[in-house]
Amino acid sequence: MSALASLRVSALFLGALSWACSPAADAPGQGSAAVPDGQAGAAGPAAPAGPASTPRPNGASPSGLKVVVVGIDGATWVVMDPLLAGGELPTFASLIARGTRAPLESQKPILSPCVWTTIATGKHREDHGITRFRSTHSTADKPKLMATTDRTAPAIWNMVTSFGVGVGVIGWWVTWPAEAVEGFVVSDRVAYSRWSSWTDGKQDRRLTHPEALIEKLKDLVVDPVKAPPADEIFALADFTEHEQKQILDADHPIPFHAPSVLKFGFCEQRTYEKIGLELFSRSQPSLSLLFLVAVDPISHTYWHLYRPSEFQGHVDPDEARRIGRIVPSIYKHNDTYLAELLPKFDANTVVLVVSDHGFKASGKLPGLETRVDYKAVGIERAEELDDPVNVGQSGIHELDGIFLAAGGPILKGVTLKRKASVLDVTPTVLALLGLPIGKDMPGRVLDELIDPAFLAQHPVTYIDAYEERCKPTAFDEPVEFDDSGRTELLNSLGYTDVGGGK
Ligand SMILES: [Zn+2]
Repeated sequence: MSALASLRVSALFLGALSWACSPAADAPGQGSAAVPDGQAGAAGPAAPAGPASTPRPNGASPSGLKVVVVGIDGATWVVMDPLLAGGELPTFASLIARGTRAPLESQKPILSPCVWTTIATGKHREDHGITRFRSTHSTADKPKLMATTDRTAPAIWNMVTSFGVGVGVIGWWVTWPAEAVEGFVVSDRVAYSRWSSWTDGKQDRRLTHPEALIEKLKDLVVDPVKAPPADEIFALADFTEHEQKQILDADHPIPFHAPSVLKFGFCEQRTYEKIGLELFSRSQPSLSLLFLVAVDPISHTYWHLYRPSEFQGHVDPDEARRIGRIVPSIYKHNDTYLAELLPKFDANTVVLVVSDHGFKASGKLPGLETRVDYKAVGIERAEELDDPVNVGQSGIHELDGIFLAAGGPILKGVTLKRKASVLDVTPTVLALLGLPIGKDMPGRVLDELIDPAFLAQHPVTYIDAYEERCKPTAFDEPVEFDDSGRTELLNSLGYTDVGGGK
């Protein structure tokens, strides 16, 4: 079957992976994806028995269903509900109308790389190894962003690959260096992100899998310095000419400095939006993951203008009237984008929309600063500014994010048995794909969401751990954690700014 054939293909890349889904985990020479489970007899009482008529060869009976996971950093029902009530999020409204919505509980400390990796592994951060922003390869004078090589557990793209099930991953946190999968990975180092400037996140190798894919995508990378999409950014609010100039002049991102964070966050998201449209128009893998970042930086820096009544100090009413709508605007932008993207997938596709946390007021208004500290983002660095700028985090992370599921066997308007957790996403996606859940995953399949007829046909199955199938493999050539490998490609991608204070 094609499953084993594709496992053989991925074996070619073994030496270059951090997590290789090795066919060696299965008996060699098996003629089908129905690989015997060496552990089945010793699985113990925790392994639920499927119907006697259902063959359960290692749980490998893909359902044939397609699943799209859209990750929206920092999305909250607190912003969405008034917009939904006003009919301003028609795409989300139609997903809700034919599916189920709920809060999604995050984990503290609420740090995006940790939580997004928990969503993608079904493991606590202590078990998947992404416990902060900075890589374990970091030193005080050379901060490095977390990388795939820091992860100590397989991600869902490794898991599905181990069954020969196709996957496409775009922009997800901690996906560089891109791992070999049954499909493609467009890593989180393809876009020109604010984190690239703050830490040493810029790399020129293994930006994508297959590696040559980057050549086809580089024209889609939105360069915030050389070619910012000014009209799109200015449409988000009513900026004065002076404010527009501040946005255009921002040549590197400064933590919690609204004009620069807006510009870099928006361009990062537009990069992955364009790549998503391009790649998912061409093919729709069984599992597609797409990450959209801009709600988070915009909510951090503009919350006081969106909800001035939540702050004690003085918020300029004119500024709030003109710019406050930028928070709703980015949600409406996402709604419009999904209206364009989702029809690329067939009508039976399951769409999941998740966020890693919500947002609330910090209570602190931005203040004029001449020196900015990168400590706020976990980096030992400070930058002196030529001109004082308003810097501040008026919006901060809140524990409840969003969960929305619709399509295929997803039931309408279900009340969940227990509050959904970021730990539940991977088990639920695996169950929808007909693949086994790791018994070492602390989350659960949100099975009350799924049509019992589907579950009868595709009962939830278990394996002890995906580590049985997906082995960590050292990179055969060093992936450089310094800047020496920069090339023309990097420059052409816009990776020319070394960032503040270096
Ligand atoms: Zn954030």
